[in-house]
Amino acid sequence: MANETELPDLPTEITPQSQDFGRWYTDVVRRAELADYSPVKGCMVIRPYGYAIWELMQQALDKRFKETGHVNAYFPLLIPESLLNKEVEHVEGFAPQVAWVTQGGNEVLEERLVIRPTSETIIGTMYAKWVQSWRDLPILINQWANVVRWEKVTRLFLRTTEFLWQEGHTAHETAEEAQEETLKMLGVYKNFSETELAMPVLDGQKTDSEKFAGAERTYSIEALMGDGRALQAGTSHNLGQNFAKVYDIKFQGRDKSVQYIWGTSWGVTTRLIGAVVMVHGDDGGLILPPRIAPYQVVIVPIIPKPKFKETVLPRAQEIKAELVKQGVRVMLDDRDSQTPGWKFNEWELRGVPLRLEIGPKDIEKSQVVLARRDTRVKSFVPMEGLAIHVAEFLETIQQALFDRALAYRTEHTSETDSYDEFKEILEGRPGFVVSPWCGDAACEAQIKTDTQATIRNIPFASAPAAGKQCLRCGSPAQAHAWFAKAY
Ligand SMILES: [Zn+2]
Repeated sequence: MANETELPDLPTEITPQSQDFGRWYTDVVRRAELADYSPVKGCMVIRPYGYAIWELMQQALDKRFKETGHVNAYFPLLIPESLLNKEVEHVEGFAPQVAWVTQGGNEVLEERLVIRPTSETIIGTMYAKWVQSWRDLPILINQWANVVRWEKVTRLFLRTTEFLWQEGHTAHETAEEAQEETLKMLGVYKNFSETELAMPVLDGQKTDSEKFAGAERTYSIEALMGDGRALQAGTSHNLGQNFAKVYDIKFQGRDKSVQYIWGTSWGVTTRLIGAVVMVHGDDGGLILPPRIAPYQVVIVPIIPKPKFKETVLPRAQEIKAELVKQGVRVMLDDRDSQTPGWKFNEWELRGVPLRLEIGPKDIEKSQVVLARRDTRVKSFVPMEGLAIHVAEFLETIQQALFDRALAYRTEHTSETDSYDEFKEILEGRPGFVVSPWCGDAACEAQIKTDTQATIRNIPFASAPAAGKQCLRCGSPAQAHAWFAKAY
């Protein structure tokens, strides 16, 4: 990401994916007006079109959180240093990325404050006050917020110093309940990613070296991007009693004994917008899954001569009203200043799933043209029952995008027991490589040094590794791990 105060102009052309995938990504994000660089080092501006996608993601997630019994609350942005310092592993994990507030107005603060990198510490402190008895449990709270983690190398949506996210923080009576919650929320993330984002994800457990600072166990969903790199799309942590012991979150149990609560935390971020861009996009630009597209349909009136304006525009407005009434998100591009061809390009670049063309001849024949963004196929559709046809098209596109992404992942997943072959596969656009691994962190680190690939996770559905040997060191394998180069 450019950090200069002098900001680069918007690109006029989009770099082809095959030429430079990273460049392509940035061009699309900026040209489609999802986000832009800002004068603040490492921070981005989410533009209205990008923010509309985030709002749709939020709604779909929030609905799922509520359905699973969670409520929303809000905790402070600033956290006293002493609170953060209580949990040693946690503070060591986050210290290099923490932003400090040292002064308020002209006054130097007695105690420094951190801008939250995550909220376990402050939320844990409050839970300690709120929980007395087993009757107060479980606490199932989610927060929609921004966090700050100082980043040296940044990238629009994928890695920025400030980002938006949700963080769930729960407290439970038993270890079993906490584990159940941890996996339930990972399941919510998987369902959300696959249903709303049309993005297949691999759900599984992170290795110890990749787990959240202060967690017992971390689970993740991992998606494969169009350049063969993996992206961690969401995490769910079983915190055990680590934070409870440090922040003194205790309760009187059913047997009257004093016990520590069992905690979880889980989050997804605006990085999901970047994931959608990289999973579905092509050289024409963005391709949005209909369920999170700010505009699901763009109507482009074809007005060959000025005299047709009086017939075409009112009909286009009627169609828009009819679709909106059926709950479809519609943009009618009635700008005089641009040609239909220019508009076709523009809305393709911005990923609108369906384009509806209507001209004088279509009105005569009582039909419209529907053009799919994903396949670019055009169909004539009768105006009669148009809303039903549009709804069917949108569903078909949503499914087709998922199927295509899943096929891509399958094509780009290899299995090998041989380290030489492993290294060979990791050239080019490799995707996932599934290999037996011994479970040793040093061995995992050496694989990363040799190949840049990390263990993304050990999927729940991973084949047992009994009798297999670690691909690198030859020791007995613990599991089949899924490796990839990652964002
Ligand atoms: Zn090994």
